[in-house]
Amino acid sequence: MTNLISIDRRTVLAAGLGLLAAPIINTRYAMAATSGTENQMNAATPPQINRFKLGSFTVTVVKDGSDVIEKPGSTFGTNQAPETVDQLLSANFLPADKFVNSYSPAIVDTGTDVILVDTGLGAASRERGMGLLKDGLAAAGYTPDQITVVALTHMHGDHIGGLMEDGAPAFKNARYVAGQAEYDFWSDKAREGTPAENGHKLVLRNVAPLAEKTTFIKEGEPVVSGITAMLATGHTPGHMVFHVESDGKRLLMTGDTANHYILSLQRPDWEVRFDMDKADAAASRKKVFDMVATDRIAFLGYHMPFPAVGFVERYETGYRFVPKTYQFDI
Ligand SMILES: [Zn+2]
Repeated sequence: MTNLISIDRRTVLAAGLGLLAAPIINTRYAMAATSGTENQMNAATPPQINRFKLGSFTVTVVKDGSDVIEKPGSTFGTNQAPETVDQLLSANFLPADKFVNSYSPAIVDTGTDVILVDTGLGAASRERGMGLLKDGLAAAGYTPDQITVVALTHMHGDHIGGLMEDGAPAFKNARYVAGQAEYDFWSDKAREGTPAENGHKLVLRNVAPLAEKTTFIKEGEPVVSGITAMLATGHTPGHMVFHVESDGKRLLMTGDTANHYILSLQRPDWEVRFDMDKADAAASRKKVFDMVATDRIAFLGYHMPFPAVGFVERYETGYRFVPKTYQFDI
């Protein structure tokens, strides 16, 4: 009996891996393996993509990578007793000692424009098996030169890291759309000597050289026809979400408004280490996800489990995440 089960498991595993990996064994992926099964999966397989229709638009989500992070409670629920965080994880069938964080830039193809929302971690993270957007674009049938607009939810490294490639713009035909308040904060010399100094330097390297081709927008302004920005601050001072609508179908691209599908959504008030203004971030989480729940629309959360798209319903003191399945396919 034991033997039968293990043979079955081996056969199934071998078949599955063969299907995914055989046509595209790539030494760079193989070499890039680091510790942790998630990273090994990044390293051993081509980037995952997920494509769906939204009205007359096509949305393609690309997995730039994922990593395994120790101690969920030191990132989420930092103002809670550790056992309170552990209990919520356990109740949701999740381990208490580590969590998986994934990165999901996405392309909205309107037929007129090809808009890339956020750019992943970029070249600096490739040796850790991440920064795979470039390969994901190729897998999705896009070349970097086809991107007409790059829109940024905010200017943390995992969102702007892919803007440059070898010191030159990665998307050479694109114009850019970014938040005025976000750029003003990070590009300001006043960040020198503060905890935001590294972010400031990265913005000077990756965003400032593109400023002449960038439209800096405010609350309620369009990215392109059908995509509108809304401020949802707190994670960063100018963090924005993008409301996408085509033929009555809607998707809210929520960026880093909520970054864990259980800890941030079920407990939106819990403090999060990476939220720069914690009270403001909690208020934004509730404003944004109240709208997602009330209007029963889909959302794409950059760090949600791939493909990072789902719905929410109100639940206890927050929201229950309902991952998308075939809603867009039929
Ligand atoms: Zn992020």
